[in-house]
Amino acid sequence: MAVGWPGATVSSGGRLPGRVILTDCRLVDGAGNPWVAADVLIEGDQVAAIGPAGALSRRGRPAPIVVDVGGRYVTPGFVDPHTHSDLTVLSNPGAESAIYQGVTTHVVGNCGMSAAPVDDRRLGDFVTMWESYFDCGPVTWRTFAEYLDAVETGGCAINVAALVGHGALRIATMGFDERPAGVRELAAMKRLLAASMAAGAFGLSTGLVYPPGCYASTDELIELARVVKTYDGIYTTHVRGERETIVEAVTEAVRIGAESGLPVEVSHNAPKWGGPPATANLAVIEQARADGHDVTLDNDTHTDLAPRLSLALPQQLHSLAVDELVAVLSDPARRAELAREVAADERPGPGYSGLLKHGRFERIVVLRATNRALLGRSVADIAADRGAEPFDTYLDLIVEERDGIIAIFDYIDEAQLQAVLRHPLAMVSSDGLVAPLPRPGEPIAYWPCNFGEYTGFLERYVRDRPILRLEEAVRKMTSLPAQRFGLWDRGILRPGARADIVVFDLDRLRDRATNLFPHSYPFENIPHRYAEGIDYVFVNGAAVLWEGTHTGAGGGRVLRGPGARRRAAARPSRAPGSRPARARPARPVV
Ligand SMILES: [Zn+2]
Repeated sequence: MAVGWPGATVSSGGRLPGRVILTDCRLVDGAGNPWVAADVLIEGDQVAAIGPAGALSRRGRPAPIVVDVGGRYVTPGFVDPHTHSDLTVLSNPGAESAIYQGVTTHVVGNCGMSAAPVDDRRLGDFVTMWESYFDCGPVTWRTFAEYLDAVETGGCAINVAALVGHGALRIATMGFDERPAGVRELAAMKRLLAASMAAGAFGLSTGLVYPPGCYASTDELIELARVVKTYDGIYTTHVRGERETIVEAVTEAVRIGAESGLPVEVSHNAPKWGGPPATANLAVIEQARADGHDVTLDNDTHTDLAPRLSLALPQQLHSLAVDELVAVLSDPARRAELAREVAADERPGPGYSGLLKHGRFERIVVLRATNRALLGRSVADIAADRGAEPFDTYLDLIVEERDGIIAIFDYIDEAQLQAVLRHPLAMVSSDGLVAPLPRPGEPIAYWPCNFGEYTGFLERYVRDRPILRLEEAVRKMTSLPAQRFGLWDRGILRPGARADIVVFDLDRLRDRATNLFPHSYPFENIPHRYAEGIDYVFVNGAAVLWEGTHTGAGGGRVLRGPGARRRAAARPSRAPGSRPARARPARPVV
């Protein structure tokens, strides 16, 4: 199937012969064990052997390429359990932003947003869902199976495992309607969900603070989760509130898992500004496990996001045209109303809007504005200069810049973030996507999670300001997420595992996209660059990064979830025209 992205290609051209020996490795296996001095033999797409340094035979054909890694760390490829690369893997099949960080697998379809299923009658709504983030590109598929085929045909440097988004199911069935699903609509969603699971989805994701996910009742979600259970999938969720109501929201997620029998992954679950300490939501998850429910969580390593200022205002303003928005914000009566609404926070907006409710304008720093005197300054500072109230200044800036102003919102307390990242049940995610570096002249955007997540985590929290042992940090980036999604042959280095492998020098790792709070101006890592210090990346045995340079190889695969695997296992395997094999009597399982 043509995916319609001319020029977006990966090839097998950069692929090296099928046998490579890595020698003088400090091998970190991904399970959390201390590193061990070892050599590793890669044959085809597998780790063929691991042995003591110098012990692996160099005989055999083809003759292996021997790479002396000189005592650098060798780990499983990083598995990113929470991304939004659904569409951008098609336009960026080289996945450079991920590969330069050592990431070899992306789980897509998170927060209720997936690339499929798509209904022709709701195509406009589908595009609206995606285009609030970036250009959607041509949508040449409709079913989940067709979407996975499109990714497979396009080729990709990383592996892709996909979830079905509840938002996509709802949009395909009832658009953005703000109401409970009717009996027929729920039945239609279940049919689409079942077909997607059978095609290879790994589970169902929800985004319960975004339309249309936020319109769904808990019962609707339990009904859908029960369909996923019949395919042995998983439930992942951006919960219904991540600030003041985070404990209730995580409790709802646990209930959905308990009543459907599904494992639960609570997505990016560090509390945002205004929420209780992280220990509160972690305690809910610990208790769930003590009660026998398999619940885990993830978080990215950033404390910030950079949306337009207007997106932190109450949701009903988001759909207004610029002139309408400017008119509303210029009307003193409407302003007073807005101030009351923000303080009351009855329909909590995205996490970063907590900074408005709690008046933390010193944590909102202007990143892009036509008035260059504003750049790098906090809204609190600008207000102090003007002798105005910060909330008024905030609205004035939107009016002055005609809604073009964006700022870095530092909306997570780093101590709370660290508490989550240190917790044994938490894995690392990016909440980002594969993306090209910004071209010169393009408007400044802030996407540190796309470019600096994994290297930044190791650089800051293992090397420079350690909160974790290296081996534990690697576990959170490899075997823990791989186990979570049933990728049993990845995320760990053992003979027989898929050869998704990263080689890096911890001392040289450098995240070139993150800007730490408090900010200095000019911003240190804007515009972004690819991460530095990752030297080799193998994906299914293909060398995608070689001596720090992307080879153009497309080693990645579309990974298929348990429903598709079961279907494949049930299919009789026989050559066309041959007689079906006689079924053998089942042997008792011992
Ligand atoms: Zn989310």
